[in-house]
Amino acid sequence: MNSRCRLAIHGGAGVIDRATLTPARETEFRFALARIAGAAWASLQAGASALDVVEQAVRDLEDFPLFNAGHGAVLNADGVAEMDASIMDGRSRAAGAVAGVRTPKHPVTLARAVMEGSEHVLLVGEGADRYAAECGIEQADPAYFITAERAEQQKLAALSGRVTLDHDPLYIGPNPADRTGTVGAVARDAEGHLAAATSTGGMTNKHPGRAGDTPIIGAGTWAEDQSCAVSATGHGEFFIRSSLAFDVHARMVYGGADLASACAGALGRVADLGGSGGLIAIDREGQIALPYNSEGMYRAWVGADGHLQVAIYAG
Ligand code: ASP
Repeated sequence: MNSRCRLAIHGGAGVIDRATLTPARETEFRFALARIAGAAWASLQAGASALDVVEQAVRDLEDFPLFNAGHGAVLNADGVAEMDASIMDGRSRAAGAVAGVRTPKHPVTLARAVMEGSEHVLLVGEGADRYAAECGIEQADPAYFITAERAEQQKLAALSGRVTLDHDPLYIGPNPADRTGTVGAVARDAEGHLAAATSTGGMTNKHPGRAGDTPIIGAGTWAEDQSCAVSATGHGEFFIRSSLAFDVHARMVYGGADLASACAGALGRVADLGGSGGLIAIDREGQIALPYNSEGMYRAWVGADGHLQVAIYAG
């Protein structure tokens, strides 16, 4: 085993009601997290770069219909999946992001294309979709992204006249799948480099054109070899107003904080505003932190001992 490798992935944080998460359903989530993290870990051990691994892990999470990204993304007020994604390379602080895209099958791959193939960091809407076509990135019909559960969830949110987090129990259907969120991955590779990626459909019944924290570098995503890699999930407006991901970095570099206290302090600022959610983070030393202030967070990780772990609730 290469002892420098570390990995963490998430499938969103929120109110994950134990009463409605049946054992069969929970197994389905756990299996998906274990499968995706296991494949990512094998790639890291085989020498893949952290950047390649976080992109592939997020692609796999985007394909899993019960998470709010790619196929199965939540829907906006028009009943359309408008997706956000970002990726950052800790070696160089190169970053790419897209917001409000409707056609790329894997928005995270489009974010990477923006990072590597354009002189920009963030492309939005129609122009971003057009860039996907220009780059030859796989696209899908808007119907591909919509699942029956998400359509029902959006209808309920519209009926209540609310914009909701997909895991908000007041305005969603009884299916616990509705309560899962944004996806993300952070990794440290065999050479000690860090990377982070995040992808989401955003919030149910959001106004068309709304972008959350996920495509905002420094809010939902950050990676820098000097400090840490971070991917966030939760009520995006509060994460933007807290510059959550950059705040973790800043507390470490300017304040000398360790990863756990940097994450707790940064998440505390989100909570001070009334925001809920969580984050996954790995630092340059290989420490891992997975804090959240909601009831649960779908997560899987591999630390120094090389053991793959999966968790939804605390403990
Ligand atoms: N952070 C995402 C957003 O606000 C939502 C989520 O994490 O579930 O767009």
